[in-house]
Amino acid sequence: MATEQLETMGSEDAKWLGEYSQVHMNVFGTPLRVMDHGEGAHIWDVDGNEYLDFLAGIAVNSLGYAHPKWVKAVSEQAARAAHVSNYFATEPQIRLAARLVELAGAPDGSHVYFGNSGAEGNEAALKLAKLHGRTLPGALPSIGGKPARILALTHGFHGRTLGALSATWKPAIRNPFEPLVPNIEFVEAGDACALQDAFAETGQGHHGKGPVAAVIMELIQGEAGVRPVGADYVKRARQLCDEHGALLIIDEVQTGIGRTGSWFAFQRKDLSGGITPDIVTFAKGVGGGFPMGGMIAFGSKLSALFTPGSHGSTFAGNPLGASAALATLSVIEQEHLVANAEARGEQLRNGIASCGNPLFVSVRGRGLLDAVELSHPCAHAAMNWALEHGLIVNAVTPSALRLAPPLIVTEQDVDQAVSVLAGIPADLPND
Ligand SMILES: *Cc1c(COP(=O)(O)O)cnc(C)c1O
Repeated sequence: MATEQLETMGSEDAKWLGEYSQVHMNVFGTPLRVMDHGEGAHIWDVDGNEYLDFLAGIAVNSLGYAHPKWVKAVSEQAARAAHVSNYFATEPQIRLAARLVELAGAPDGSHVYFGNSGAEGNEAALKLAKLHGRTLPGALPSIGGKPARILALTHGFHGRTLGALSATWKPAIRNPFEPLVPNIEFVEAGDACALQDAFAETGQGHHGKGPVAAVIMELIQGEAGVRPVGADYVKRARQLCDEHGALLIIDEVQTGIGRTGSWFAFQRKDLSGGITPDIVTFAKGVGGGFPMGGMIAFGSKLSALFTPGSHGSTFAGNPLGASAALATLSVIEQEHLVANAEARGEQLRNGIASCGNPLFVSVRGRGLLDAVELSHPCAHAAMNWALEHGLIVNAVTPSALRLAPPLIVTEQDVDQAVSVLAGIPADLPND
């Protein structure tokens, strides 16, 4: 950790961070602050410093901190039954699955699998895709068949577990763990010809590869710096999947649950071209801070590929998590937060574009998943400057700041964030 940061940090923070590093594996680097409690879009550290939170636990805290309805739902469920195992079911779990199918506009016969994180949602989707691949002509286990393939996109991020990591592009985080799951191939994001070529490699004979079981992609690549892959590209991917019997898996772990100005990003024509996916994965924002995730399989035929024993998790669909998610979805609906995400996002991007800070060269995103591109690679310095001035943002790439505030942010909150961002010195040194 840079010493200049420690100097400006309060004494309680510094004390706890010293203890943190004694007992935590160093996979996250040194945390920026030790946090204590929050309310709405604001959070306080252990020294009593207040921050306006424009990261929201990485697009997780949809309702901000300590929303009364969320707290009530979680407390009441905790007092009834926090967990029951999957030998039993609970009402919140059943209601939540039905609600997610409804919000996704998935057809009758669609089914949900619950996990506890984004990676687990994607693991489930990849396993379902593997079962689907085995039904395709020319694929194993038919005689003379070849293993079906899964196509993933360059710059895509799907999680850190070994399956999800196998479909995650960033070499620095993937390479040390190779060999990973075989028959997952990367195609250039946004390049429809490259995707078509990858499909065309399927064939008989010595050089032909197995059929494509699925294409997995984000519609806005969040960890890559909030980069839309392009509606025309997504539309073409849908066509190619249809022609070849492949599934289209849309990873909505970061884009979903209202954040991009619609319940799911695939419902925005300007992101998806109006396609319908076969599988949608979700997590981050769904539980409003409670670990929850999973996937929706569209239609009964696909859903039926999972049978008892195919997949599972001890905590899957846990009633505490389900109640947290139900409360989150119901507040998003009652407080019109999907529309708020759209309006506040518009305000935020316009505010940044017109704030006159020469550090900012462009701004992009949809709803409240946005990024501002900087004139030079000083994103960490810019993030630290904002933090010192009471605003939490995220250095998502060396030269971009990600903005993903809670969906409850007000017009005033956005104005306040823009005024802090406007003040970031344009001559910060490179990180
Ligand atoms: C965060 C993220 C994941 C991984 O979610 P975890 O809950 O960290 O496992 C997967 N896909 C996308 C698009 C994400 O943004």
